[in-house]
Amino acid sequence: MSFEGKKIAMVGAGPANLNAAKVLIAEGFTVDIYEKEAEAGGAVYTGIPAFRMPHAFIEKLAKELADAGVGFHMNTEIGKDISFEELLEKYDRVLLGIGAQVENKFGMEGDGYIAGLTLLYDLNVLKKHEEYKEKYHKAVVWGGGNVAMDCSASLARILPDVRIIYRRSEAEMPASKKEIKDNMAVGVKFEYLENIKDLILDENGKVKGVHIAKMELGEPDSSGRRRPVEIPGSIYEFECDLVVPAIGQYVDFSAFKGVEKGGTHLSTVPNVYITGDAYLGPKNLGAAVKDGKEAAQEIIDSFR
Ligand SMILES: Cc1cc2nc3c(=O)[nH]c(=O)nc-3n(C[C@H](O)[C@H](O)[C@H](O)COP(=O)(O)OP(=O)(O)OC[C@H]3O[C@@H](n4cnc5c(N)ncnc54)[C@H](O)[C@@H]3O)c2cc1C
Repeated sequence: MSFEGKKIAMVGAGPANLNAAKVLIAEGFTVDIYEKEAEAGGAVYTGIPAFRMPHAFIEKLAKELADAGVGFHMNTEIGKDISFEELLEKYDRVLLGIGAQVENKFGMEGDGYIAGLTLLYDLNVLKKHEEYKEKYHKAVVWGGGNVAMDCSASLARILPDVRIIYRRSEAEMPASKKEIKDNMAVGVKFEYLENIKDLILDENGKVKGVHIAKMELGEPDSSGRRRPVEIPGSIYEFECDLVVPAIGQYVDFSAFKGVEKGGTHLSTVPNVYITGDAYLGPKNLGAAVKDGKEAAQEIIDSFR
């Protein structure tokens, strides 16, 4: 069957959609990718620091796709620059590979309270290294996963004092042994079995410290890891001027009216599919690549 003339719009130029585009363009579809950033790559471009993972592989893929005829519409946010409804009118299918990029800030606010993905964006994309160097000296990164490790390793390259606060012990930490070792090599300190309770702000709303509670491990929870339990009377004050929460991200479909996850990649809106972290929840590159290809196949099958 020929798919000539069938038009697919993709939202997001992350690894999932780039790999879906590769499958669809090879089958003869017309593919247009809309991306709010200036460069393709998704979290590889905005989140993962180049010192840890060179970005050349994703730049190469994007170039190959552009050469093969995929239309890249950069600096174009769907829901702001172009409406979702316009895509639905113009295209036969829409694939949302928007990632899981909304961060958990636990309802806290303060000057010097900057969530992990925002911090990485400031450094990787906006190159605000000098600004951070001038403004901050003592940073606390709150969390124990990939994102937390990238934040602390990035900050340790520009600030004199950086520590990770993690509420469980090293054995339960989601970050890999290599990441922990690499962080220690650049001087990051690790405080296990501790948790941030709240921020301490000065009269101008600027962070001047945190209250930290000491924890102990109780019974395993639903994740199979032992549950951290606060030790009564253990709260103490810790001085710092930058606090980076890096605990969990989620997906936001609010720019895409009516869209919710369905039973397959097909969402609750006809002809609209979801892939990558937006479909699976925050995962990894391998999972995003595989899922992009699977979503593309589901779109192909929908025309048969
Ligand atoms: C800091 C960090 C470190 C990581 N480290 C690793 C690692 O070491 N190894 C590993 O395997 N995985 C790692 N991951 C996970 C991996 O990067 C992701 O699983 C993967 O990038 C998900 O791909 P995706 O295409 O689904 O979404 P993303 O890569 O998140 O891409 C989504 C894209 O959609 C765009 N977008 C969103 N909304 C709109 C809109 N309305 N209009 C236009 N564009 C939009 C975004 O700008 C973004 O470019 C890490 C992730 C982060 C954040």
